[in-house]
Amino acid sequence: MPAPRKKGKLPRNYILVAAKKVFPEMVRLRRNIHSQPELSFREFKTTRLVLGELKKLGIVGRVTKAKTGVIATINGSGKGRTIAIRADMDALPIQETTGLSFASKRKGVMHACGHDSHIAVLLGLAKILTEYNRRHGLPGNIRLIFQPGEESGSRTYGPGSSFMVNEGAMKGVSAVLGFHFISEYKLGRVHVRKGIRDQAISFIKFSISSDGGHGASNSEIPDIVAISAKIRADIDRIYNPQKPSKLRAVSLRCDHGQVSGTDRFNVMPTGITHTLAFRASVPEKERTRIFKKLLTNIRGAYLKNGKPWKQKGLRFRITSIEYGLPATENDPKLAELAKEVAKEHPDVNAIYSRQTVGSEDFSGYTHSKLGRIPGLYISIGTSSKELIKRHGGRKPDHHESSFDIDERAMRIAVSLLAETCIRYLNKR
Ligand SMILES: [Zn+2]
Ligand SMILES: [Zn+2]
Repeated sequence: MPAPRKKGKLPRNYILVAAKKVFPEMVRLRRNIHSQPELSFREFKTTRLVLGELKKLGIVGRVTKAKTGVIATINGSGKGRTIAIRADMDALPIQETTGLSFASKRKGVMHACGHDSHIAVLLGLAKILTEYNRRHGLPGNIRLIFQPGEESGSRTYGPGSSFMVNEGAMKGVSAVLGFHFISEYKLGRVHVRKGIRDQAISFIKFSISSDGGHGASNSEIPDIVAISAKIRADIDRIYNPQKPSKLRAVSLRCDHGQVSGTDRFNVMPTGITHTLAFRASVPEKERTRIFKKLLTNIRGAYLKNGKPWKQKGLRFRITSIEYGLPATENDPKLAELAKEVAKEHPDVNAIYSRQTVGSEDFSGYTHSKLGRIPGLYISIGTSSKELIKRHGGRKPDHHESSFDIDERAMRIAVSLLAETCIRYLNKR
């Protein structure tokens, strides 16, 4: 049964005070989650913890069919719009070396990207907004998305964000917020950008193979290492599918390669695979056009009528094409709203807006089978003198075994997000 509302004016700094009040609880939760990290799509214990914390607030969370990940809603007046906020939940296969009192108790697994604190912030936000709803009444609804598998998708379920969309996380949602703590930025700095923020990413995997042979036998056995280096350089040359003005927006890199068939000096290798990562900070339509052109160019150069190219015992084959995540594109109105909130925040002293070089699976919420949904992804700085001192004079970076944050960033994050949600729901 919904709690009775006590309408009336709340103090202007209500959210800031509420964030301060919930801060010790967020710290406790973050440390607890940090000590029990779980890998992508195996966040079972974390899921149970989230469910339990939501239950304390009277919120019934729904667990996905993967038994990891939770979808929940704080129902406001019922007539207004619904805004979703997503926190990712997974850890990484890294052996922690921080020496913190709440360091990982699981060998070889660590929350080295800060997702432990993302979960704590979303739970803190649930607490603040539930209380706000009880006292003042929310003019709309809040969807809470605790997402598994951001670092790595699942073979069965795909990327975490698309999986949550398929599970109904975005049903009835008119805007979605995402956030990430960033060690590169000092505490008090936030990143809010209008338009494209993170890169779209696609992969093309190709292989070059031969029958191999004795390393000393004769010069007719193809040297596939040299040939593959040439093909790789050729692809860079034929890769010019766009106007020069757009060149900086798109990049092609060899993410990784693998040589098979030999680890000996006298046995010629029989296969080499390359994975090309194609990154683009352009709108989705533009990315599709450029990527298709690139594929056509590669096929034209290395396939004969769409079939693998063969020559003197050599074979070239495109083994897979993965049309990955779209670019994270921030809705201008949502970005403006969050900027307005950040500017008024007493603990925010700088707002950045530059484009990033990475990719984020958050774009799975804004570009899905449901069509385009306005979204905003923001970053919040976590570095401070105290943190650097604690780590022997250096700033611990994401995906490092010494990764850590200044926990005060959680207080800034929760107040920014809560205020943005309320103002969004109040806008007609
Ligand atoms: Zn990460
Ligand atoms: Zn991350």
